[in-house]
Amino acid sequence: MASLYKTPLTTLRGVGEKRAELFRKLGVDSVGELLNYYPRAYEDWTSVEKIKNLQEGGTYCIKAVLGTSVSDAMIGGGRIISKTTVYDDTGTLKLVWFNNRYISQMLAYGAEYFFFGKITVDKYGAQMLAPTFSPASKGAGIHPVYHTTAGLVSKHISNAVEQALQLLPEEVNDPIPEPIREKYGLCGLKQALGDVHFPMTREALDTARKRLVTEELLVLNLGMKSLRGHSRGVTGVKINKDFSADFERLLPFELTGAQRRAIADCVGDMTRRGAPMNRLVQGDVGSGKTAVAASVCYTAAKNGFQAAFMAPTEILARQHFNTLSALLEPTGLRVELLTGSLRESEKKRVREGLLSGEIDLVIGTHALITDKTEFHRLGLAVTDEQHRFGVAQRAALLGKGENPHLMVMSATPIPRTLGLIIFGDLDISVIDELPPSRKPVRTVLRGAADRKKIYAFIKSEIAQGRQAFIVCPLIEEGETEGLASAEEYAAELMLRDFSDIPVAVVHGKTKPDEKERLMADFAANKYGLLVATTVIEVGVDVPNASVMMIENAERFGLSQLHQLRGRVGRGEFQSYCILVSDNRGPVTMERLRVMCSTNDGFKIADEDLKMRGPGDFFGERQHGLPQLSIADFADSKSLELSQKIADDIIFIYKDLRCDELRLLNAEVERLFARGGQNILN
Ligand code: ADP
Ligand code: MG
Repeated sequence: MASLYKTPLTTLRGVGEKRAELFRKLGVDSVGELLNYYPRAYEDWTSVEKIKNLQEGGTYCIKAVLGTSVSDAMIGGGRIISKTTVYDDTGTLKLVWFNNRYISQMLAYGAEYFFFGKITVDKYGAQMLAPTFSPASKGAGIHPVYHTTAGLVSKHISNAVEQALQLLPEEVNDPIPEPIREKYGLCGLKQALGDVHFPMTREALDTARKRLVTEELLVLNLGMKSLRGHSRGVTGVKINKDFSADFERLLPFELTGAQRRAIADCVGDMTRRGAPMNRLVQGDVGSGKTAVAASVCYTAAKNGFQAAFMAPTEILARQHFNTLSALLEPTGLRVELLTGSLRESEKKRVREGLLSGEIDLVIGTHALITDKTEFHRLGLAVTDEQHRFGVAQRAALLGKGENPHLMVMSATPIPRTLGLIIFGDLDISVIDELPPSRKPVRTVLRGAADRKKIYAFIKSEIAQGRQAFIVCPLIEEGETEGLASAEEYAAELMLRDFSDIPVAVVHGKTKPDEKERLMADFAANKYGLLVATTVIEVGVDVPNASVMMIENAERFGLSQLHQLRGRVGRGEFQSYCILVSDNRGPVTMERLRVMCSTNDGFKIADEDLKMRGPGDFFGERQHGLPQLSIADFADSKSLELSQKIADDIIFIYKDLRCDELRLLNAEVERLFARGGQNILN
């Protein structure tokens, strides 16, 4: 099997250079990878229906004989229509294909086939539209349907897979050792590969999937385990005194009970001897995580250690820097900012200060984890919006000290099973209380026809001194129809509806320093309205803003919408979130209704996970986990099983690098290298 990853696809019949290029587009570059290119769905050809029972709108498999040879005719626009009539012992049926000049060569008059397709009815009667087919002698079973790309249809892929399976050796070396397979009822790799592509029965497919899903999650588990390292050992950071009461006196407000509890948890971890703190602080948007982090940083710094606070974007880092330096510099602590967009001389100055130990607290972006950044005595690492960082990045930050304390913050509630994989043994504090005097954001759903009214409302809010956001979704190339880009949209607004109000526009192509300036000016109320793509998604704090209008709301995930909504309702003013969508599909309506009915981020995350799965939930590849090809992060049962097997394997074989696990280890490398991003290194 291993050597098949080095066998080029062109060794297969029917795959030349051109087609191999198409496969490459799908991420398939070798025979081995082709075998791992699993179907996205299946057509069940095991239950054959009689022609007389077919109903309009249904999708069926029939077994029938060609009663006429296929006739091709040209129709408008140079297109070809191919027709034939088939029969079984209960009736006849017309079959129709468009633009496939090969149909007439592939089907023979008088021969029997399985046909699979949808029944439609027009004025000429019932017909099966563009059915797939297979000779009756070999067609039964469950047929794979693959993700395709232009020029490469599912049938091409299944033909190639069929040949690839033939290339498997008689005895395939199995990455999962036999005793483990036996103990957990997992079938062998060869059987699994054969049956996942061409199962004869549902049961065979289930058995194959179970094996492959478990293997992939097992590999993921083992990889994450070795990434994290087994234990963090003993910390060299001695925190003796709790300064959180002093810190609270610096604040212009009183901490909530939940904030105090989270701080006490963290300080408790840091003052205890032995293992360093390893804590996740979860709290909904607006729950005041920044103050918690600041307090913990303050205690670390007052005990003579440096603290590093890492944020996922420049805007956030700068905002935290502004807040924390204003708060802490008067106490004699030195606070600095380190981000990629600083001038080189600035960066150099900050790095020198970190190395010499003159700087007590640094706030920054990924610039903090590059090799060039060194600390004198790093005692505490904090990461904000943790789901945006990979495990490797977190590890890199920790590597800058002697087993420093770690605090990670997230507004995204992570399902327990997934949390175990990402974080391993992590303690959790939940901030389950919002600061007092917060008024829940009122959320409504409106159609595009209401736009004028919404604008009028926004203007009235701005006239009262408030500010507003309008968010348009990011537009991908070639799908602009009906959707305005942020710039076009803003240009129109400024000319027509908001000509008397200063409008700022932030989008994907806005340069970082320009973005910085616009956001800062917006926060300072120099603009009444900010039009943006999702770049304002996390963190941004403008307590004076009271309206969040979201265009094409159906294009956002629920958790994303919730994050966006969290940008308003941060001050004392009644705030509003206006979702605009003309999509009245039942699923969309249901999702947007959830948004209107609750402000509870945990509830929304739950719904999101149920409806869309964790891919959307976390945002594209932002959790630092590799991309899975068959398993699913939401499948907690399989996750738990794989966790158990991983523990078992470590217990039995001790070392991942031992000979029995050689192949499994190779799979770990392969999974984590997928997509060109090797997060193991
Ligand atoms: P998040 O948890 O989303 O990161 P922030 O830390 O940005 O929330 O806090 C949101 C806003 O609430 C900030 O303006 C902050 O100053 C304010 N805030 C935080 N804690 C309290 C509190 N206990 N009382 C009043 N306002 C608070
Ligand atoms: Mg925050």
